[in-house]
Amino acid sequence: MEEYARPTTNYEPLTLRYFGDPVLRAPAQPVTAFDDVIHELAGRMIATMQAASGVGLAAQQIGRTEAICVIGLPPEMDIDADGQPANSPEPMPLVLLNPHVTWVPESSWAREEGCLSFPEIEGKITRPWTIHVTYQDLQGQSQERTWHGMLARVVQHEVDHLNGVLFIDRMSHVKRLALKGRLKRLKEEYAEYPKP
Ligand SMILES: [Zn+2]
Repeated sequence: MEEYARPTTNYEPLTLRYFGDPVLRAPAQPVTAFDDVIHELAGRMIATMQAASGVGLAAQQIGRTEAICVIGLPPEMDIDADGQPANSPEPMPLVLLNPHVTWVPESSWAREEGCLSFPEIEGKITRPWTIHVTYQDLQGQSQERTWHGMLARVVQHEVDHLNGVLFIDRMSHVKRLALKGRLKRLKEEYAEYPKP
């Protein structure tokens, strides 16, 4: 298995963007230069994700629109219903550039999800168990994986962000209605949140 570039994480966390910030609805633009700029952005995003104890972060969540997301799923969360590893071990954190997800028609499963851009909000979301993913790594090399379970869920959540899709869009109508007041307050609370 080839070596992954491991960007340094000696960076200060960036300011998170929250629900109501229009950047969260902006579609990402393809990354075409695999240079120091994108390496530094990846490192800063990893630092931000880790500081916030998240398992994934997409560019829009720090106010950017490059098609890049980072994943940091601990092995103990990457398990199937029997407690066995759901995937071949991947070196974490993963950096996915220009990712594209294809759903594999198979069983889907529901689980509570959270999002760093929606503090204290969770909701059950049904997603496919297995996905096929193509992406480029930090060297610009094309990669292809089939992922299952929680890793597949996190990747879908982050690739949704890159397409301007938020997890509330995938919640049931009933759940969204129930969250209406909290979402309104969240929007108001962070409307004037300081941005760099
Ligand atoms: Zn999210």
